[in-house]
Amino acid sequence: NLSDRLSETFKNLRGKGKLSPADVDGTVREIRRALLDADVALDVVKDFTGKVRERALGDEVSKALNPSQQVVQIVNDELVAILGGEARRIEFAKTGPTIIMLAGLQGAGKTTLAGKLAKWLAGQNHTPLLVAADLQRPNAVTQLTVVAEQAGVAIFAPEAGNTSGEDPTPSRGFFGGSKGGDPVKVAKDALKYAKDKQYDVVIVDTAGRLGVDAELMKQASDIRKAIDPDEVFFVIDAMIGQDAVATAKAFQAGVDFTAVVLTKLDGDARGGAALSVASVTGRPIIFASTGESLDDFEPFYPDRMASRILDLGDILTLIEQAQKNFDEEESMKIAEKFATDSFTLEDFLSQMQQLKKMGSMKAMLGMLPGAKGMREQLDNFDESEITRTEAIIQSMTLAERRTPKLLNGSRRVRIARGSGTTVTEVNALVNRFDQAAKMMKTVAKGGVPNIPGMGPI
Ligand code: GDP
Ligand code: MG
Repeated sequence: NLSDRLSETFKNLRGKGKLSPADVDGTVREIRRALLDADVALDVVKDFTGKVRERALGDEVSKALNPSQQVVQIVNDELVAILGGEARRIEFAKTGPTIIMLAGLQGAGKTTLAGKLAKWLAGQNHTPLLVAADLQRPNAVTQLTVVAEQAGVAIFAPEAGNTSGEDPTPSRGFFGGSKGGDPVKVAKDALKYAKDKQYDVVIVDTAGRLGVDAELMKQASDIRKAIDPDEVFFVIDAMIGQDAVATAKAFQAGVDFTAVVLTKLDGDARGGAALSVASVTGRPIIFASTGESLDDFEPFYPDRMASRILDLGDILTLIEQAQKNFDEEESMKIAEKFATDSFTLEDFLSQMQQLKKMGSMKAMLGMLPGAKGMREQLDNFDESEITRTEAIIQSMTLAERRTPKLLNGSRRVRIARGSGTTVTEVNALVNRFDQAAKMMKTVAKGGVPNIPGMGPI
């Protein structure tokens, strides 16, 4: 795992006052291996490590108070740079509807993304129109119709199964119309419709294939030419690994795109594909998709992704989401407890109950440092987990809740029995609590959390 490898590498630098060229080379070699193992493309790795090496041997490191931490900073900076630097925003059209076209392989998450994007835009007072220009798969139009309904936005689609050449009848109250069959025509008709009805963003879902395919590429390119979109988003599954580069290059050559959307970031992938695609195409990543529900979606922040790769956890996102949901007084109280080390398992429980409000718990846990070790639990995570957590904490004595250090082996066995869980589950909960408390304590004190094993920054 990329993060593990990098933190291991940095651990080896720890405590070194001055770095010799050999130290730097050793570190760079480790970074190189870690990146390759994480499916980052070879060219990207070479380029990246070259830059890091050059800077690490330079003045900024030899003059730094803590050279090894300066190296970490450099790695972080270079990661951010590759990922596009500043967060990219949608470029809206100056006049008329903004047209966003989605392209990518089948299963990449385009249709889901169309719904997420539409819902997100609608939440910002836009009036998006979804366009079903995937007429390849029999189910595609129906799928987008369902997504549009969930997102509460309008859809323009040829009536399912209508190949009669007659104009279809609108249904569901927000159904545009077009004669079936030709995706280019559907897209053009949709544009006309959007202008008429004053939709201000048009999101065009297109067909994908399982692999790169000349006919598909031509279709996407024809749609692009016909509607001249303001944005073309290349949608790519972050789990696809080494294939990411070839796929991205093929789409760049065949259709070209203005930005990349990474999907399935809720999975195991920790940045390999992101680094490769952004670097090889020179196109920034604009959004990240982190789950199947329409709310599992957020703008992409290169600095946060870099931290995630370095396993700092996506603390900023966490805090942002927390602020949305916690009332201020409550979070002040918690922050105070964190800072003074008086945060207890009882507080943890009430915090978890708060988290329930925050939507996807799984995505949240995935952002916590150390959570990657809990893959299995994350995969099985559901609301019942909170119920079990509750049971575990309630099986503890008051003293144990307040001073988790008391929890030795025999107490854990007793608690597991009392709560109908296993010792493993009790251990996992206590570990999670420890990690959360440690991290939050640093944040609450206004500090930057440590890179694991590095000591304070
Ligand atoms: P398309 O063929 O590109 O239109 O892909 P779809 O939108 O139909 O998505 C393919 C599958 O991936 C569906 O089962 C989606 O629910 C799932 N999916 C899409 N985005 C995500 C994501 O961010 N995370 C996860 N876990 N699944 C996703
Ligand atoms: Mg689709």
